[in-house]
Amino acid sequence: MTIVRFAPSPTGQLHVGNARMALANWLHARAKGGTFILRLDDTDSERSTAEFATSIENDLTWLGLQWDQLERQSARMERYRETLESLKQSGRVYGCYETPEELDYKRKRLMGRGKPPIYDRSALDLSDEKREAYEAEGRKPHWRFKLNHADINFDDLVRGPVHFHGQNLSDPVLVRGDGTYLYMLPSAVDDIDMAVTDVIRGEDHVANTAVQIQIFEALGAPPPVFAHTPLLTDIGGKGLSKRLGSMTVSSLREDGVEAMALNSYLAHIGTSDAIEPRANLADLAADFDISHTGRGTPKFDPDHLKTLNAALLHGTDFAAAEPRLQALGLDQADAAFWLAVRPNLERFDDVALWHKVCFGAIDPVLEDAGFASAAADLLPGGVWDQTTWKDWTGAVKEATGRKGKELFLPLRLALTGLDHGPELKLLLPLIGRARAMQRLAGEGQ
Ligand code: GLU
Repeated sequence: MTIVRFAPSPTGQLHVGNARMALANWLHARAKGGTFILRLDDTDSERSTAEFATSIENDLTWLGLQWDQLERQSARMERYRETLESLKQSGRVYGCYETPEELDYKRKRLMGRGKPPIYDRSALDLSDEKREAYEAEGRKPHWRFKLNHADINFDDLVRGPVHFHGQNLSDPVLVRGDGTYLYMLPSAVDDIDMAVTDVIRGEDHVANTAVQIQIFEALGAPPPVFAHTPLLTDIGGKGLSKRLGSMTVSSLREDGVEAMALNSYLAHIGTSDAIEPRANLADLAADFDISHTGRGTPKFDPDHLKTLNAALLHGTDFAAAEPRLQALGLDQADAAFWLAVRPNLERFDDVALWHKVCFGAIDPVLEDAGFASAAADLLPGGVWDQTTWKDWTGAVKEATGRKGKELFLPLRLALTGLDHGPELKLLLPLIGRARAMQRLAGEGQ
């Protein structure tokens, strides 16, 4: 049974990079008939907020990435404390008293000598007297995990075989002097307790994985399978940060991006699979394979997304559009209307404009009132259908001698108030005779 988790820190809005990670996990779970856990990494009580947690949940819901289970790290602090104690007992966690300044000095000195800034473990040599002296001074210990100086190997579903050696890594701080937990331990404890089988996350976590593999071992649990994907950047190759407002899921939604356009884009960006509009998540899950992810940096291109968005709308059938048309209060929007206007949509809301053009009040543009009036006189009677436009304009051409743009553009401007739009052979029957007459006379309604 596959169990995955998406583990955002609720310290900002979901951006497209986070959404891509959520989607990869969700699709991986669905492709394997597994479970998708939403885990809020909210141990940082100063930066995490309930509002951000809610906005993340809303964005995931909008994308259709429903979770099977919701977990909050803030509710599991007791479990982390217990685990920390057991690691202290087994000698895998040790207390350190260096101040940030002292650590900084050590790091700089090592780097100055061309050495990697690996903690020297001097805390392991502290005498009891020295510890007591520090405590008396008011220093509080921070707690480090003692890495085994051994090979760490894992097979990454994206990167292939990955190798680290414990000696080349710094013993990570698990708990700060003020008792707050850093990311490393709670994440591993959760993955064990929640029986997570597959961890899909950004490649910025590869070295953390090496450490966490040893934490899993120290806690007697087998490590999950890992997949680290290259991080999404903006079009210029710059990393996405939470400050990039236009890259948030909510701002894209407000800009009229369809959830499935974003899903279609993010599921295949940076993979060997073609990016194409897909109508639903089940379709994406059917052939999703995380190992198709490449090693190059994927770049988020807003224009590509826009094109995908339009293509998706142009292929949306009336049954799918109908409830949304109703929700917008467009009560005359039937199948004929939808099929006429959908090729002109860049965003769904654009339908409101075309609904007005077909059924509401517009400002007709009359360049030549005489010509418009002559054309109005030739409007056919009877029931109008898709052939009416051709018959009518044929008659107007014959009567006025106009052809091509000279003929069609003034009619479009009069009938719609616009110089572009859906095919008039489809619009004309929707506009109908009465409105067409009024508009050709220059009357708005
Ligand atoms: N909260 C971590 C992050 O957002 C989670 C990383 C993980 O998936 O383990 O980077």
